[in-house]
Amino acid sequence: MFTPEDARFDRQHIWHPYTSMQDPLPCYPVVAAHGFQLQLADGRELVDGMSSWWAAIHGYNHPRLNRALTQQMAQMSHVMFGGITHPAAVALCRQLVTMTPAALECVFLADSGSVAVEVSMKMALQYWLGRGETRQQFLTLKRGYHGDTFAAMSVCDPENSMHSLWRGYLPEHHFAEAPACGFDDEWQSQDFDVFARLIEQHQQQLAAVILEPIVQGAGGMRFYHPRYLQQVREACDRYGLLLIADEIATGFGRTGRLFACEHADITPDILCVGKALTGGMMTLAATLTTREVADTISRSAAGCFMHGPTFMGNPLACAVAVESLTLLAEGEWQRQVAAIERQLRAELLPLRSAPQVADVRVLGAIGVVETHRAVNMAALQQFFVEQGVWIRPFGRLIYLMPPYIITPQALSKLVQAIGAALEHSSHFAD
Ligand code: PMP
Repeated sequence: MFTPEDARFDRQHIWHPYTSMQDPLPCYPVVAAHGFQLQLADGRELVDGMSSWWAAIHGYNHPRLNRALTQQMAQMSHVMFGGITHPAAVALCRQLVTMTPAALECVFLADSGSVAVEVSMKMALQYWLGRGETRQQFLTLKRGYHGDTFAAMSVCDPENSMHSLWRGYLPEHHFAEAPACGFDDEWQSQDFDVFARLIEQHQQQLAAVILEPIVQGAGGMRFYHPRYLQQVREACDRYGLLLIADEIATGFGRTGRLFACEHADITPDILCVGKALTGGMMTLAATLTTREVADTISRSAAGCFMHGPTFMGNPLACAVAVESLTLLAEGEWQRQVAAIERQLRAELLPLRSAPQVADVRVLGAIGVVETHRAVNMAALQQFFVEQGVWIRPFGRLIYLMPPYIITPQALSKLVQAIGAALEHSSHFAD
C-alpha cells in the first residue's frame, strides 16, 4: 500500500541519494522484491539490473537468507560488541579469514562501506604511529570512489566529489591519473609512469595507497589492466607502504573472480568489503588486515585501535552474511557470473555501433555503456520503467550489474531496453 499522500510526504520531507530537496527527481515506490524482480506499488514488475547497487547478488527474498535472519532474530537481534562476542560474528569472521588471502587474518566489522574505508585509513595512520612516525598522506587514483564520509571523500575523485566545496576542511592527498590501459587492452608500461613518479616523490610522507582494484566503480565504471595493480603492489613493497584495496563494490564474485585483486594475483595489506557481504539484506562491511599491521597498531601510544561503533558486529547482519557467504562457497556464482559475462559480451558489445555510444565494456557480471552526452536522468529512468526494467544511469553511464541469479531472458530484456533507450535523443542532455 502506497498512497498519493505517502508520495507527497516523500517528496516534501525525505532526502534521497544526491537529490535536491526543492526539485527532487521522481522516486518509484517499490513494495516488494523477489528473485531478480522489483514490484512497484501499482503492481508492475521490473527486472532489476542494479542488484541494489552491487549488493543483492543472490536476488531478493532469498529463502535461505530470510531463514538465517529470522533464526538469528529468535535468538537475539543485537547486543553490544564491547566486552561481548557472539556465534554469528565468530562464524562470519572465520569465513572472511578463510576466503580472503592467507595474510589477512584480523577483521574489523563496520556498519557500512564508507565506515570500512574510514577504518582502513585510520588503521594506516595508527600503523605509522605504532612505528613511531606521523604519516598522514594517501596516494590514490583519479576517478576513484570510496564513500561519502569525510576521510573516504578525501580520496574520491576530486572533481566528481567536488573537493572544491570542502576546501580547507578536507585533507588533501595525492592523485595519480586514472589508469588509461583497459582490462582487455595490451599493457602499455607508460600507463604507470605518473603513479611511479608520485609514489617515489612522496614516499616519506605517505601512509598508504588506497584504490579500487581493477574496477573503478561509481567514479566512472572503468576496468583497468591487472599489470597496473601489480605495479602498485610492487611499488608499495619497494617503499614499505601499505596498500588498501577497496573491494566494497568488486568483492564476492562480481568481476568473475571472488575478489578483483585475484586478477592481478596480489594481496593488499588492508582489504575493505561491504555491499554484497550480506547478499544485500542488511548494512554491514568489514576491514581485514594482516597480523603485522594489527600488532603494530596495538603498539601505538593508544594501545588499541581507536574505533568501536554502536552496531559493530550486529548479530542479524552477521548471521545473514554467514548464509550469503555459505551460498557463495557452494560455488554456483562462478557459473552464473561467467554466463552473464558471455551473454553481455554477445548482446551488449554490439551497441558500440550506436551513434550515441562512446564505449561499451564488460567484465564479469558488469556491463557498461558509456555515451557521448550525459543522460537525461528523469526521462531515461521513466523510459526504463515503462520498458519493465530497473536501470539507474548517471552522468554518461548506463550500466548493468544484475543479481547473479538472473535468467538469460531477463538479461536480454535489460540489454534490449538499453538498446531502445539509445534511439531517443530526448534521453540525453543537449
Ligand atoms: N567504496 C566503494 C568502492 C563503493 O562503491 C562504495 C559505495 N558505492 C563505498 C565504498 C561506500 O559504501 P557505502 O555506500 O556502503 O558507505
